[in-house]
Amino acid sequence: MKYISTRGQAPELDFEEVLLAGLASDGGLYVPDELPSYSLDEIRSWRELPYHELAYKIVSPFIGDAVEEQALKDMIKDTYAGFAHSAVAPLAQIDHNEYVLELFHGPTLAFKDFALQLLGRLLDYVLEKRGEKAVIMGATSGDTGSAAIEGCRRCKTIDIFILHPYNRVSEVQRRQMTTIPGDNIHNLAIEGNFDDCQSMVKASFRDQSFLADGRRLVAVNSINWARIMAQIVYYFYASLNLGGPDRKVAFSVPTGNFGDIFAGYLAHKMGLPIDQLTIATNQNDILHRFMSQNLYKKNPLEHTLSPSMDIVVSSNFERLLFDLFDRDGHAIADLMDKMNNEEVSIEEDRMARAREMFDSYALNDEVTCQTISQVFGESEYLLDPHTAIGVKAARETRRNKDVPMVTLGTAHPVKFADACTKAGMQYPELPAHLSDLLEREEKYTVLPNDMTKVQGFIAENLSK
Ligand SMILES: *Cc1c(COP(=O)(O)O)cnc(C)c1O
Repeated sequence: MKYISTRGQAPELDFEEVLLAGLASDGGLYVPDELPSYSLDEIRSWRELPYHELAYKIVSPFIGDAVEEQALKDMIKDTYAGFAHSAVAPLAQIDHNEYVLELFHGPTLAFKDFALQLLGRLLDYVLEKRGEKAVIMGATSGDTGSAAIEGCRRCKTIDIFILHPYNRVSEVQRRQMTTIPGDNIHNLAIEGNFDDCQSMVKASFRDQSFLADGRRLVAVNSINWARIMAQIVYYFYASLNLGGPDRKVAFSVPTGNFGDIFAGYLAHKMGLPIDQLTIATNQNDILHRFMSQNLYKKNPLEHTLSPSMDIVVSSNFERLLFDLFDRDGHAIADLMDKMNNEEVSIEEDRMARAREMFDSYALNDEVTCQTISQVFGESEYLLDPHTAIGVKAARETRRNKDVPMVTLGTAHPVKFADACTKAGMQYPELPAHLSDLLEREEKYTVLPNDMTKVQGFIAENLSK
């Protein structure tokens, strides 16, 4: 399969190159040139498959011959064997025809494990084959960092440096990063805020000359196509467990950078009958405002109880716009430039096409807490704040009561215990495999908010 940039100017790449590439050289994002598409009969024939076998069916056409068949099967099986629930992505029913797809049974208790556990293995395989080594550098205010570290901890070809703002990450989230042992793992606590960390990472990607002997930085955020790819699988899995494809299913997705929900859109394009996709956001609601008013306007960042959705712009939205603009790369390059600098509306017919599939809803912290306590009262099911936003948005935007509504459960409530206690709930318990988290030994290095020092540290600590 070939991959093309949403801005039309970068070279076409194959999967192996796309895996290592990150952002395209024209500033765009890579998407498949063409999607595989499946008949209802084919999808129906996958009903009995366990998660890892379904995942192989879905992802192998995207990977092509970059990974040998048996190796890919083993890799995927190994990836999801590490999840604490044998269904991998179980459905919990919270009301009549209403479900939460629990995507938090991976090692770091958030849905990012689905993609990053596979991404680490794919990277290691491809880099080893090429005889190369790479460096992962990322900034995190919470769960991306731990998921990336857990995903790459066993990689022989990768050194990983994760920057977090010193003293500004919750204890559970910090410990999930700093207690993972490994000589190739480096947690850097930066004396600054998240934006300082993020801008050092961005600048380092632009100029990688501080890295010796041809090593490159690999992006593990959701601009990396392989992450989106891995997330397509659970939309199929949820549907097949609810009578699909002979019955439509609706999804509500707590959204930040639009990666997770974009995977649902792709599942639909590949043939899965999906009735609606709800974009659920917190007060950082640029997507909701755009969808409801056809006005794209950046607002200042707000810190909320659902920090993993605290964004100003939503990077993967460009991948959807590319389709809405009939895959015209020049038009997207112009549009992205405009969106960066001014308020933008698009043609009503394009917006109408987006609204055929997507609904949107935004809520503030107060309503998030109310939803947590309301759902607990109804069914003794404790939602994390991100998932609570999804559930409330699902209820507000639902088109058809006969269609099962599935909210993506993006994190375990213990990761965001503050919000749970604010909502009047008891402090949730850590799951068994993390029960000693607060006693484990931590390892991290405090560094000043100074890029030369940070890059110097990385250069000195690369494995031989
Ligand atoms: C990352 C994250 C999200 C947002 O996912 P996107 O793919 O950026 O839309 C939502 N909830 C949790 C818990 C997350 O970690």
